[in-house]
Amino acid sequence: MQKYEKLEKIGEGTYGTVFKAKNRETHEIVALKRVRLDDDDEGVPSSALREICLLKELKHKNIVRLHDVLHSDKKLTLVFEYCDQDLKKYFDSSTVRCFLSKPLLSHLQSFMYQLLKGLAFCHSRNVLHRDLKPQNLLINRNGELKLADFGLARAFGIPVRCYSAEVVTLWYRPPDVLFGAKLYSTSIDMWSAGCIFAELANAGRPLFPGNDVLILGTNELCSDRTIDLQWQTMTKLPDYKPYPMYPATTSLVNVVPKLSSTGRDLLQNLLKCNPVQRISAEEALQHPYFADFCPP
Ligand code: ADP
Ligand code: MG
Repeated sequence: MQKYEKLEKIGEGTYGTVFKAKNRETHEIVALKRVRLDDDDEGVPSSALREICLLKELKHKNIVRLHDVLHSDKKLTLVFEYCDQDLKKYFDSSTVRCFLSKPLLSHLQSFMYQLLKGLAFCHSRNVLHRDLKPQNLLINRNGELKLADFGLARAFGIPVRCYSAEVVTLWYRPPDVLFGAKLYSTSIDMWSAGCIFAELANAGRPLFPGNDVLILGTNELCSDRTIDLQWQTMTKLPDYKPYPMYPATTSLVNVVPKLSSTGRDLLQNLLKCNPVQRISAEEALQHPYFADFCPP
């Protein structure tokens, strides 16, 4: 730990506190994340440690690089590449509000493309995020977007509470997971990507700011809930609650008025209630929404 000089606290999240720090030798700026564990007596579970060490191999320009894992005295410190800010702070910042979301809209396609690129890379290696939300997307001044907090949900379990005992937001969780599905697949992250897409298109207004499945019940976007065979499997999930069905004709135009028609089609495919029908990251990158997009 003497290797790093702590500069300032930059965040508090689900698993611990994050500091900006400087490598004393190379002067490189990094983000240090001290992971707090519930059961202090036990120290760091070896399964968690194994998972985290695997993340060091997850090298992609849209994934925050994990440089190092420091494990001593039952404490765990993760050393990450440093980014300028997270997307939540970006939404909240005064510049975004002053410019009436213009900078955000011009970045929408690029942010979405980078989010899907990062996801496609991880999904191809069978790594799920499971807790995608604006706080876990980091951005740099040059417009780069990187996924943070990757794979930690696998090491420590899907977060329900923050280490400060605050309840974790459910706004980005798909209905199948809220209904108690225990078998997760890559589709969990695709729903969250859809929620984030709509939130970006609405300059930071969350799509489903509800705290449980009941609020999701007023979700007019879930238009694929015709009682087909696959939905019937959903009704057998442990926490399933019937909720009002809306006709498939409900228009997304009212929900994301600034989004183009191809954008709305992509969103519709990300927000399929039925996980089996949800578009994959690889497919989403081929969607006509990106037809006129030139990656830098
Ligand atoms: P947790 O797992 O506890 O949620 P995160 O990795 O999401 O921790 O970090 C919490 C917050 O700290 C983030 O929302 C972000 O604001 C900030 N943060 C985390 N990692 C970095 C980083 N590499 N660069 C800049 N800020 C970061
Ligand atoms: Mg986080």
